[in-house]
Amino acid sequence: MLEQNCVLCGCSNDQQICQDCYHSLISHDNRYHCPRCLIQLAPKELHCANCHENNFQFERVISAFDYGFPLDKILHQLKYNHKIEYTTLLSQLFWSQIARQIQRLPEVIIPVPLHSKKHKLRGFNQVHELLREFRQLNPQVQLIQAHRTKETQAQATLNRQQRLSNLNNAFSIQADLRGKSIAIVDDVVTSGTTVNELAKLCQQLGAAHVEIWCLMRAQH
Ligand SMILES: [Zn+2]
Ligand SMILES: [Zn+2]
Repeated sequence: MLEQNCVLCGCSNDQQICQDCYHSLISHDNRYHCPRCLIQLAPKELHCANCHENNFQFERVISAFDYGFPLDKILHQLKYNHKIEYTTLLSQLFWSQIARQIQRLPEVIIPVPLHSKKHKLRGFNQVHELLREFRQLNPQVQLIQAHRTKETQAQATLNRQQRLSNLNNAFSIQADLRGKSIAIVDDVVTSGTTVNELAKLCQQLGAAHVEIWCLMRAQH
């Protein structure tokens, strides 16, 4: 096999990621998390305030990894430099870690859309790139595009009230989702308000089951 360097630590290897780096990547944070939204809870805390406050319309968040180095840097490379080797790597890592956490495939996947202006500027939506491996292996799952109907501010810059009104009617979906099981896909989930807005819309369109898949779950 072709000798190359591990993209994370630089050691020479026959894989894009060496065994050591791979194991440190997949070692999950073992602290207690809400099983639904994956936010960290204090030990013995049974009730998740985050779920309660946000009235989440999805069943659960399934995250490939915890947020952090080095995946945050690799994702940044993908988003801002569109490095093809990172695209392939991230989409493989993403699907390998999601696949082991789900019992069955959804019928539909909906990537969180960028606003068309941002999409034009960047030239691609990183979530579509993340889904590359998944789509190759599971062509029977229907991809439905959602659209951003207004330009929203970055959620991270806003307080809770502003976050909610910022997202009000921010998306549209032209599809019949009645009775469908759906996975909404994003690169990073932080507060969960963005994906929840899409989940709400899916529910209004009659979806039977909505879950969220993401590459990384950040703790805010
Ligand atoms: Zn390495
Ligand atoms: Zn929760």
